[in-house]
Amino acid sequence: MTMDEPPLTLLKSKVREIADFPTPGILFKDITPLLSDHRAFNAALSLLAEAVEDIAFDVIAAPEARGFILAAPLAKHCGVGIVLIRKPGKLPAATISHTYSLQYGNDTLEMHADSFEGMDSPRVLIVDDVLATGGTATASAELIKSAGGVPVGLAVLIELAALNGREALSDVTVRSVLNY
Ligand code: AMP
Repeated sequence: MTMDEPPLTLLKSKVREIADFPTPGILFKDITPLLSDHRAFNAALSLLAEAVEDIAFDVIAAPEARGFILAAPLAKHCGVGIVLIRKPGKLPAATISHTYSLQYGNDTLEMHADSFEGMDSPRVLIVDDVLATGGTATASAELIKSAGGVPVGLAVLIELAALNGREALSDVTVRSVLNY
């Protein structure tokens, strides 16, 4: 979806750009003005839902923290559950972990080892706010595979196309609402 239709213009007007956050050289896409505006948040969720309509998935997985905000209402809309991907030490039961490189440093993500218990090779849609280098989504896909799931798609609100994150995710269908 790349056409500049009115909803996309509204959404873009609600994404605030903060220079040099969290480190010098990063132009941070701040979606908090979009989240606090009912019309924009609603439009963002509708467009995300539309973008994944043709992807068959059994469950959504989302990295913290902004991924949760988009994934939870989308999961409800799509009638599926949600699995949490978190920073180390946040999940209470036995975890699996994966270390990856972020646009601004290195990080580790964890998932409950039994996230897909009772599901037979579930097809998993990853949902996050921003696709930058693709490190977070790739790490999420690795965790999903380690836990017995099949990563089939990635849906993000914002894709930073110049960073080629999409190329790092050649195995999954990538959908974004806003392109920069
Ligand atoms: P990456 O792993 O490089 O694809 O980065 C994606 C993750 O880092 C997402 O969870 C984003 O929330 C965050 N992120 C990376 N770059 C930015 C940016 N320029 N603005 C906002 N969030 C970003």
